[in-house]
Parts: sequence; C-alpha cells; structure tokens
Amino acid sequence: MKKERMLGDVFRAISRFFVFFLLVAFVITCCLMLFVSTLEITMDISFTREDITAAAKITMVNVIVISIFFFTVDSVRRRYTVKRPIKKIVDATEKMISGNFDVRIPVGSKFASDDTFTEIIDCINKMAHELSGVETLRTDFIANVSHEMKTPLSVIQNYGQLLQSPSLSEEKRIEYAKEITDASRKLADMMTNVLKLNRLENQQIYPSAVRYDLGEQLCECLLRYESVWESKNIAIETNIADGIFILADRELLSLVWNNLLSNAFKFTESGGTVGVSLASDGEYAVVKVKDTGCGISPEVGAHIFEKFYQGDTSHSSEGNGLGLALVKRVADIMQGEISVDSEVGAGTTFTLRIRRDKNDTDKAA
Ligand code: ADP
Repeated sequence: MKKERMLGDVFRAISRFFVFFLLVAFVITCCLMLFVSTLEITMDISFTREDITAAAKITMVNVIVISIFFFTVDSVRRRYTVKRPIKKIVDATEKMISGNFDVRIPVGSKFASDDTFTEIIDCINKMAHELSGVETLRTDFIANVSHEMKTPLSVIQNYGQLLQSPSLSEEKRIEYAKEITDASRKLADMMTNVLKLNRLENQQIYPSAVRYDLGEQLCECLLRYESVWESKNIAIETNIADGIFILADRELLSLVWNNLLSNAFKFTESGGTVGVSLASDGEYAVVKVKDTGCGISPEVGAHIFEKFYQGDTSHSSEGNGLGLALVKRVADIMQGEISVDSEVGAGTTFTLRIRRDKNDTDKAA
C-alpha cells in the first residue's frame, strides 16, 4: 500500500515536471523565434544552420534548468500552502470519525495557507465544537436517566425481597406493595417525560393547531387539582379574562399548565394560596401561575429549566426535574416566552406569554 502510494507520488511529480517543462519550452521557443526573426529583419543578419543548432542546444539546457527551478519553487509552495493544511484537515476529520470531537485544527499563518483553507478549517472547528456540545448533552442525559432510574429500581428490589418473607403481616404486605407501586409509577412517569422531551426536541411532534378558548382550558386543568387543594387546605385565586382564543396545540399547552400547577401545589405548604390569571396584552395572551410557596433562590432559578435539575430536594421524590424543561421546550416551539419571578419564603410566579389567535388581534386592530 505504502509502495503504491510512493509510486503514485513519483508518477505525479514526473507528470507535473513534464507540464512545467512543456510550458517553459513553449514560452522560450516562442520568445527566441521572435527575437531571431526580429534580429534578421532589423540588422540584416542571416544565421547559419550551425549557429541555430548551437543556440538550440544552449536553449534546451536553459529550458531544463528553468523548469527544474520553477518545479522546485512550486513544489515547496504546494507543500506549505496546500499539502500541509490538507493533511491537518484529514487527520482531524479521521479523529472525529473515530468519535473524538475535542480536536481543533490550528489555523496556520496567513502567508502559509490559502484563504480557502482558513475558511474550511474555521468551519470544521465550528462543526467539532457543535458536535462535542451535542455529545456532552447526550452523555449527560444518559447519565442522568440512569441515575434517576437507580433509586426507584432499588426501592422495587428491596421491597420485592421483603415481600418474599413468609412471616409477613397483612399490614406490612400492603405497605411494601404500595412502596413498589409508587416507585414503579415514578419510573413510568419519568420515562413518559423523557420520551415526550425527546420527541419534542427531535420535533417529531408537529403541533396540530386548533383555535380554542384558553381560559376554559386553564379552568379545566386547575379543576384536576381540586382534591390536592382541598387536602392541603390551599386557597385558590383566579382572574381569568373571557374570550381569549389561541391557535395552538391543546395537548402541548395542557402539558405546560399541568407542570406549572403541579409545581405550585407541590411547593406550597398547607394554608397557602395558588393563583391563576389570564389577561391579554396586545397580540399576546399572558398566563400567570402564582403561589405562596417556598420560593426559588437566584442560584436555583438560574438552572430550573435544565433537564433533571431539582433545586428543592425535599420534594425530589415527587418529580424528576423534567417538568420545567418540557415547559420551556413547548414555549420555544410556540415562540412564546416563559419567565419566573420569585422570592424565597414569599412565593413564585411563572408567566407565559403566547401569541393570541391572529384573527382576533386583526379584528381588534
Ligand atoms: P421537579 O420534578 O423537581 O418539580 P421541575 O423541572 O418541574 O422538576 O422543577 C425544577 C425545580 O424548580 C424544582 O426542583 C424546584 O426547585 C424549582 N421549582 C419549580 N417550580 C417551583 C415553585 N412553584 N416553587 C418553588 N420552586 C419551584
């Protein structure tokens, strides 16, 4: 293989030299013929056959020397401005093919390489940077999912073992079976969220937009938590404007309201208040989900929309840190804006701004 490549290189060098030789020979012959005929005409000189043969031999040697000179200069130029950057690019892409996205190609000095190569190297470096980001996200995601799966799985394993004991009382049997059911529900919820997020991120869910009353949907979602607010003695405040219609995917948005409301009820202690409001602001519908719960510190607030991030570990068994990542993704898909305003110990307000149905805003205008 190496021998074949060397032979190929030699053959290419010979053919390149031959091209130089022909080019130089053609140029010098043309110049000489012009020069000789001009001399003959202007100075009235005539050259003998011997003169011309002697001159042709000297010229031939000249042609060979000049060809070798230009061939050498061109080879050195090619080596530094073409072969070197190509070798760097090939080496780097081979490393990327084998999964190493940390490689970066150093950009050579401006004089040593062609501008086109600098551009290509720049693009490859950017591509490697993006790919390494995606790779980190992927490995982090797998690590997080595996970590989150471990706890419920070990709960199931431990209680499953305890259930095998023959001397178990009826009360204990029910308690252990409940633990297993809860842990498997947590696992199932997490996998459902992972799948939803994955489909949303890959845009496999194409929002099927329909026109509907946003206030009605908010009331429906809120009513699903009736048993929670009754058992925790939480007061409800609503301020939902009538007749605000949006053109959106119902299911996607109900995912948002359910996550915001379940967090509000989860993080609000007994005797607290949860409020939902809907108002229109020009072209936008503005939904606020407010609670008087524990609040979010600025350090925690900076990460709440990240996957698997859980700021409040005291409630970690009731969630998996994917809820707000889903909310953010849906808001992005709908070209909406989600923001959070919170004070530790006082409460939290999540605000989502989404575009109202264009027909309504056009009519109002
Ligand atoms: P989780 O499953 O933990 O609720 P989320 O993605 O829904 O995951 O929320 C991420 C984190 O944001 C929570 O762990 C909590 O620290 C914080 N958080 C979200 N909503 C609230 C809220 N209403 N009040 C206080 N903290 C909240």
